[in-house]
Amino acid sequence: MKIGVLALQGAVAEHIRLIEKAGGEGVIVKKVEQLDELDGIIIPGGESTTIGKLMRTYHFIEALRAFSEQKKPIFGTCAGLIVIANEIEGQPEAHLELMDMKVSRNAFGRQRESFETNLAIKGIADDVRAVFIRAPLINEVGSDVEVLATYHDQIVAARQGHLLAASFHPELTDDERMHAYFLNMVRENK
Ligand code: GLN
Repeated sequence: MKIGVLALQGAVAEHIRLIEKAGGEGVIVKKVEQLDELDGIIIPGGESTTIGKLMRTYHFIEALRAFSEQKKPIFGTCAGLIVIANEIEGQPEAHLELMDMKVSRNAFGRQRESFETNLAIKGIADDVRAVFIRAPLINEVGSDVEVLATYHDQIVAARQGHLLAASFHPELTDDERMHAYFLNMVRENK
């Protein structure tokens, strides 16, 4: 299974490492033409405004919408979660508008810029290691979206069919179970 990591900006190498640890083949994606060869793609953390701008410049908006229409799995982590959301709190425009959820950026406030914790994630385990860095939150989800994890009653991971979203960075740990879960979604789709 070939899993791409969108490499316009953000944490790319770390995702490749965990995709391979989970048994997939990781591909660094810089051009839209590469999407055809992929079975799934991860949109990493970084800075969502920058990633969104570069996606527009390099024609990834239309290409990833087409990718999603083929029901090929897409996993957005942190800034990547913001990029796939239908709505971003306080911003007139969203980016890919794929997943039926409303998100808030930098939702943990300054005092908690970054922290690490164990999370119970539905379908994975109750002790998945998660790193939060200026993380977003999911404020609202549509009826087709399944909540997979909460942190202090706020939604930090969710799934809608072939779309997966996490507020945190699963790639900054040695815990590959969230990547293994995504690889399973890709396997089911094939
Ligand atoms: N705060 C960033 C944003 O709004 C996301 C942070 C991250 O990806 N670690 O884009």
